[in-house]
Formats: sequence, structure tokens, C-alpha cells
Amino acid sequence: MICPKCQHKDTKVYDSRSTHGDRAVRRRRQCVKCKHRFSTLEEVKILDLNVEKRNGQVVPFSEGKLKKGVQKAFNKRTIDADKIDKIVQLVIEDILATGRNPIKSKRIGKLVLRNLKKHDEAAYICYWAMYGNFDTAEDFNNLLQDFEK
Ligand SMILES: [Zn+2]
Repeated sequence: MICPKCQHKDTKVYDSRSTHGDRAVRRRRQCVKCKHRFSTLEEVKILDLNVEKRNGQVVPFSEGKLKKGVQKAFNKRTIDADKIDKIVQLVIEDILATGRNPIKSKRIGKLVLRNLKKHDEAAYICYWAMYGNFDTAEDFNNLLQDFEK
């Protein structure tokens, strides 16, 4: 990011706020040279994101499939739609933060787990209960089926 004041090429982020739902991240930046402060709004693009399945096939990313997988973790409980949406948005942000395109379905599974753990311990445990432990590749593959349907 180039400083809008002095055109210096090195700026640092000192605050970053993601606005869930509208998929945008507002970052406050400061130029390391002239100390000028400015903010940027980085919009997330998911239209051209692809997922690489375990068999090597590359398919377009589907927010619907991701949501379905997350909803499964809340299976036996009253589903809080806002909460699921929030977790889905966070996972999407994490996916985009990896900068990978295509991203491996396995990696998406890990990001889902990470966000479940952070935001809803019970759903995370439910996920584990459904799919067993991930000590073997086989177990983990079972989890990933949700993202590959
Ligand atoms: Zn500057």
C-alpha cells in the first residue's frame, strides 16, 4: 500500500476492523516515512475463489456448502442464524487471508474448526463428536466430505 501523501511504498497496519456481513475490512495504516495516517477499506472478493478437492478437481467456492457444514455443528441445538452467518463470514475472511486460490478443501475444514473453537466451544465439540478425532487421515477425510458434496 503506497502512502497517499508522500508515495512511500512502506506503510504499516496499526488497526484492522472487519465488518462482518458486508465482507469488508477497514484498516488503519500509517506511512513509515512521513507518519501520515490513512485508512483503507478492503473488500473481499469471493466470486473467483476456487476450491481444490482431495481428488485434485477444482470447483468454484460455494458459500452455501460452507454454511451447510457449519450448520451441522449446531445440529442438535437451537440454531442461531446470526451466529452461523458470523462464523461463515469469519471463515471466509480466513480463507481469503491465506491468499490461496484455489484453496484446498482440507484447509477450509481446518479454518472452520478454528473458528468454531474460538466462537462456540459446544459446536466445536459437537463437530468432533460427529467425526471422531482427526488422528488418522481417514477421520479427517470424513469431515471434509461436507465441503466436497
Ligand atoms: Zn508517507
